[in-house]
Amino acid sequence: ISITDLVDESYKRIHEVENKVQAFLTLDEENARTYAKQLDDAISNSENNVLFGMPIGIKDNIVTKGLRTTAASKILENFDPIYDATVIQKLKATQTVTIGKLNMDEFAMGSSNENSSYKVTRNPWDTDRVPGGSSGGSAAAVASGEVLFSLGSDTGGSIRQPAAFCGVVGLKPTYGRVSRFGLIAFASSLDQIGPITRTVEDNAYLLQTISGLDEMDSTSANVDVPNFLSSLTGDVKGLKIAVPKEYLGEGVNEEVRQSVLEALKVLEGLGATWEEVSLPHSKYALATYYLLSSSEASANLARFDGVRYGYRTDNASNLLELYKQTRSEGFGDEVKRRIMLGTFALSSGYYDAYYKKAQKVRTLIKKDFEDVFEKYDVIVGPTTPTPAFKIGENTKDPMTMYANDILTIPVNLAGVPGISVPCGFSEGLPLGLQIIGKHFDEGTIYRVAHAFE
Ligand code: GLN
Repeated sequence: ISITDLVDESYKRIHEVENKVQAFLTLDEENARTYAKQLDDAISNSENNVLFGMPIGIKDNIVTKGLRTTAASKILENFDPIYDATVIQKLKATQTVTIGKLNMDEFAMGSSNENSSYKVTRNPWDTDRVPGGSSGGSAAAVASGEVLFSLGSDTGGSIRQPAAFCGVVGLKPTYGRVSRFGLIAFASSLDQIGPITRTVEDNAYLLQTISGLDEMDSTSANVDVPNFLSSLTGDVKGLKIAVPKEYLGEGVNEEVRQSVLEALKVLEGLGATWEEVSLPHSKYALATYYLLSSSEASANLARFDGVRYGYRTDNASNLLELYKQTRSEGFGDEVKRRIMLGTFALSSGYYDAYYKKAQKVRTLIKKDFEDVFEKYDVIVGPTTPTPAFKIGENTKDPMTMYANDILTIPVNLAGVPGISVPCGFSEGLPLGLQIIGKHFDEGTIYRVAHAFE
């Protein structure tokens, strides 16, 4: 099969289903086809390069040179970046074909794609339901066969939750594993780019390609990138699994609980053992996350002032008004809510009571994970408390929407890696199993995920 055929297939599928799924914000069809043809003419470069010519979709908060990048915000409606994110440079070196840019919640704030300023992506399994978020477009595009691979970003669950809702595989790498250079920042101490794919093997290939130290991101880690593929042995004999009781307790749907217990049985059958443990501070994770992520967001989003990027208001007669009007017209409601929350938490007089306190709790949450990982190899639980909810179901109540990420958020606060792999269905909707690993031990996560798959 030629690269031209592969890319043809991708666009054919997109033209078939996109009016229902709505995963893409921008398609790059002409360039992708031209590039595919070039690759076919130079096919000799493909030796030992599994990703050569593979059609890939990119979340719209990852900057792509010359290709419209909006982060699903009106404030970046006409932003064409002049450089590529490091992950894009790495993909280009591997010669993947970028099919287009994928829908998301504005600036990655949300759990349903309903916060996009442009469109609501739909869950391919049931188009009345959300695909999850914020990387909803990335998960829906893979689930519906529009692309084979995609990149998402995960600050509090934004790769794993949509992967669970759409029945695909999504990994949030260890903080520092993948360069954030060129990722439009939401909360810099939590954000990570990661792969969304149909299989664990594909996922490992994609992570292999995008990982590694980058001098353009001072938080990228100087840690060896092992060969993730060599972890896919199918062997989990003797592996010790911890199951946090907080992850199967109140608020978790019964079918979700059952699907996790079934998955544990399968892993037991393969020679692993599991025990119940506790992550006692996880009950504070949601509050801690929304304080810290909103504080960081309020600082990161200060750069969108109508002077340097994208949208600028027509209704201003002086500079202060220009800032104010541009931001009131350019940002959506959820983004404004976070900026206000974060600005408040960081303001003098409240800083110690909120921001500083939240940082201390973050350390306790991190310590919970360290304690468990002293005795166990991985932590296993559900990815989400419920399957995909209906479009519109949670939009009126931000708190219920926020609670959807209760099982994924502690992982970002601790900086450890986590994956979601499909583990059954509830009323025809896919469910995800979350496997959490030690710092920089994505290998063991893949080993378990692959054995289970
Ligand atoms: N849903 C969470 C939020 O709204 C997580 C988003 C993310 O991981 N980018 O902040």
